[in-house]
Amino acid sequence: MKQILIFIGPPGSGKGTQAKKIAEKYKYRHVSTGDLIRALPNDPTATPEELKIVNEVSFAGRLVPDWFICGLVFRAVERYVKLSEYKGIVFDGAVRTLEQAERIQQYLETKDLDKEVAAVAIMISDKEAFDRLTKRRVCSSCREIIPWNEETKNITACPKCGGELKIRPDDKEEVIKTRMVDQGSASLQPILDYYQKIGVLKIIDGMQSIDAVGRDVEKALL
Ligand SMILES: [Zn+2]
Repeated sequence: MKQILIFIGPPGSGKGTQAKKIAEKYKYRHVSTGDLIRALPNDPTATPEELKIVNEVSFAGRLVPDWFICGLVFRAVERYVKLSEYKGIVFDGAVRTLEQAERIQQYLETKDLDKEVAAVAIMISDKEAFDRLTKRRVCSSCREIIPWNEETKNITACPKCGGELKIRPDDKEEVIKTRMVDQGSASLQPILDYYQKIGVLKIIDGMQSIDAVGRDVEKALL
């Protein structure tokens, strides 16, 4: 399996769930851009420009600038490849524009890691994404995300900690419409084309059960 796995997909595609599953199974470091952004205010290396971005745009559902995302990704790579337990990194939500894809690839080339990239695109229709997003919930204590499906729709408390479940603050309908424009399948196409062109793209059908998607992801990567 390649060392640098870049998961992409529209919001609600389940890419986060699949990225975590692969990371756990293969002892890779799971790096979610959301987690990196939330950790930034406590990071002594954060620049004033970065902190300004965190305060202004990250929770409004709009995309943050390319330089900001790339900075987070480069830092994460620097930090984790040095660790003795390093096996690989799973990036979850890091690449959302063509510019980011290209800059990250150029950066990985300088680290001799460009041949170690696999881009895993978990695709669902925009309509499916919208339905999944307007109905999924998050635990207010442990942040576990509860997807919306037949098994979970009647759950009233967090299955992990019993905490209270809430609709995610960025899952309000008008915010989701904005996110679908920014991050929906049309916006992903140039990124898919780029990864296809450099021969590292794996397209996975996300309109299946979580387990079936997981099997397809693993098959594509091995
Ligand atoms: Zn919980």
